[in-house]
Amino acid sequence: YELSPEDLAALEGDVEPVTERALPILAVIGRPNVGKSTLVNRILGKRLAVVEDKPGVTRDRVLYPAEWSGTDFMLMDTGGWEAKVTGLDLSVAQQAEVAVEMADAVMFVVDSKVGPTASDEKVVRLLRRSGKPVVLAANKVDGPQGELEAASLWSLGLGEPYPVSALHGRGTGDLLDAAIAVLPTEMPQVEVDPDAPRRIALVGRPNVGKSSLLNQLAGENRVVVNEEAGTTRDPVDERVEIAGRSWTLVDTAGIRRRVHMSKGADFYASLRTATAIERAEVVLVLLDASVPLTDQDSRVISQVLDSGRAIVLVFNKWDLVGEDERFLLERSIEQDLVQLTWAPRVNLSALTSWHTNRLVPAIDLALGSWDQRISTGKLNSFLGELVAEHPHPVRSGKQPKILFATQASNRPPRFVIFASGFLEPTYRRFIERRLREKFGFEGSPIQISVRVRE
Ligand code: GDP
Ligand code: GDP
Repeated sequence: YELSPEDLAALEGDVEPVTERALPILAVIGRPNVGKSTLVNRILGKRLAVVEDKPGVTRDRVLYPAEWSGTDFMLMDTGGWEAKVTGLDLSVAQQAEVAVEMADAVMFVVDSKVGPTASDEKVVRLLRRSGKPVVLAANKVDGPQGELEAASLWSLGLGEPYPVSALHGRGTGDLLDAAIAVLPTEMPQVEVDPDAPRRIALVGRPNVGKSSLLNQLAGENRVVVNEEAGTTRDPVDERVEIAGRSWTLVDTAGIRRRVHMSKGADFYASLRTATAIERAEVVLVLLDASVPLTDQDSRVISQVLDSGRAIVLVFNKWDLVGEDERFLLERSIEQDLVQLTWAPRVNLSALTSWHTNRLVPAIDLALGSWDQRISTGKLNSFLGELVAEHPHPVRSGKQPKILFATQASNRPPRFVIFASGFLEPTYRRFIERRLREKFGFEGSPIQISVRVRE
């Protein structure tokens, strides 16, 4: 399958390069029944409808990629599904706290038929104090007759109320225009400054040792780089020196600040993890080596896996593991983490600082893989040999041929394979395995998509 240089150029032009960057976060908050879920679904369109999810299945997803008039952002759904799925609910004040702390802008939804309630007023004070941009959605304005009630929401002091009908779509365009206008455009861009400190998130369920490790790493040398933690004085991001280099630890506020919520604590933790991951390039997933993995650990892992960020697995509290237990523990870890065999693993103790010096080499390795680009020439000669040795199995007399492949982007590496027919999942996984054997990619997820050419 020799392709001419013109063919190659044409095919490469077909692939849109994607650059990985943190997207601004817009949180939708409001009292129950004001229409938040309806609005979120309307903004996301049919693609990702929140309501689609099966009842009884707890979802990890709290941030959804969204787009409006050419602007990409993440939509944070703070209420909605959790209440329906588990009976838990964050009070509107808790939602507001979460939103103010984690989001870049807030969409505050009020039911214009009901008007502002006492709990809305409380939220308004919190929002105004925070200084975060807020757009006010006056929902359930299904026709012109509701406009007057919507206008009365000027009294909240949050600026212009946008009359909308989440149900019918009326006015949602203007509302989104207003939201986009207040979202920051200058998000930390991964591509822009090659010398900028790289961004690390520390995630893990409560008690695995995040704050202990943070204190070990940041020590006395921490510098606050982003102090917009809303109602608290805690910094969001901190610049730290580790191994003589500068790093940005993202969203440390969530680690430093102990949040005691009687209800919805898991949900809060999950939001926290999602935002931290969104702002990071590499994620340190902390696990507790002294106890078996829990469901909450698995949820954190799946959140990180979905994110496309570089990953380092950190097994903390290794000081509690007896000499004689180590071998068995290693085996059981390998079994538990089969989807993550490609992530570097560091066993350490945040308490004694044993092996904490191994973190930076592991982070460098993961980021190097995440950044890696394989030239089209190398990639195709590798695939050519691979396919010659192990062709795709013949199915009902047909055998799809791989025509050409290219790396569409890095951070994380994404590959597009052009083939004459559909490639079976097992064959794709085989290709991924071989790609990893050949080029490394330790610590980085890789994505492979196939385009079928007639
Ligand atoms: P949430 O609890 O804030 O997420 O509210 P939901 O999105 O579940 O909506 C609560 C109820 O209000 C549902 O019965 C919706 O159909 C209804 N609703 C939502 N938006 C509108 C709207 O724009 N107009 C009208 N008339 N009803 C709406
Ligand atoms: P976080 O909730 O993830 O921030 O966890 P913390 O850092 O607060 O740690 C939870 C508990 O585990 C505390 O009692 C720590 O002292 C303890 N801890 C943290 N790291 C280690 C470690 O490496 N070894 C031991 N033995 N205990 C640790």
